[in-house]
Amino acid sequence: MAINWRTMALSALFASDWGGAWAHGQGLPVSDPREILASDPAAFIQLLDDFRPSPVTSEMKQMVLKSLPLELKGRAVNASNRAKLEGLNPVLRAFQRDAVYEIRVIQGPWATIEIDGRAVLLISEGALGALEADQLRAAVAHEAAHEYVWDEWQRADKRDDWKRLRRLELVCDAIAIVILQQLGLKASSLIQGFEKLTYRNLQWLGSPPNPSRHPTLAERRKFAREVAAWMTGLSRKGAHLRLQPTAVRRDDQPPRLKHSR
Ligand SMILES: [Zn+2]
Repeated sequence: MAINWRTMALSALFASDWGGAWAHGQGLPVSDPREILASDPAAFIQLLDDFRPSPVTSEMKQMVLKSLPLELKGRAVNASNRAKLEGLNPVLRAFQRDAVYEIRVIQGPWATIEIDGRAVLLISEGALGALEADQLRAAVAHEAAHEYVWDEWQRADKRDDWKRLRRLELVCDAIAIVILQQLGLKASSLIQGFEKLTYRNLQWLGSPPNPSRHPTLAERRKFAREVAAWMTGLSRKGAHLRLQPTAVRRDDQPPRLKHSR
């Protein structure tokens, strides 16, 4: 759903110099939307634990941060947007990324949310304004899910395999929905958020960014319904992710926010 900041601002550096440095162990063994729906939901949840990607090292994170162009360094956020960002904590903890990601709010009326270098969450002011808190959580869950298919996504991107990229997007949707349900959050927020981001970009850009790389909203809606139905196969005593807290709490610590003044 995001505008590709990597392409816009960071392509040469990341693609040529650091390409190999992003490899981070085995990807998820189930990496096709149909395979997920054919699997046992409890077993899939176990896979998300067993194959959780190791986080980037602090050195790598510093390299990513240093490489951000000035326009991606981040901006101050108003109080209501700050509250939305603070609400991301349970999702970041579920992915065990609360101590990893830096969140940068970037200028722009269009709507983009993107994870860069597995270290920085770039959220445009347009996206932040358009999404409600639950929808933002869902969109960030989708972005964090990208880490599970990171290397494969890079390979598909390199060979312009758009069909594979679209499938990997749906895989990330499935992972996001599983995580949201495990947190007791509404999975429907994911599609509602995508709808808002899409409409916002239609308004500002005239077309969705990178349409051939993303499933259509109709495809996403249909798949999300299938994932929700598949999740009902999880027994009451079914598997749970090894999460820290399992619900959104009022006393959540704020996520790591950085912005320029
Ligand atoms: Zn995505």
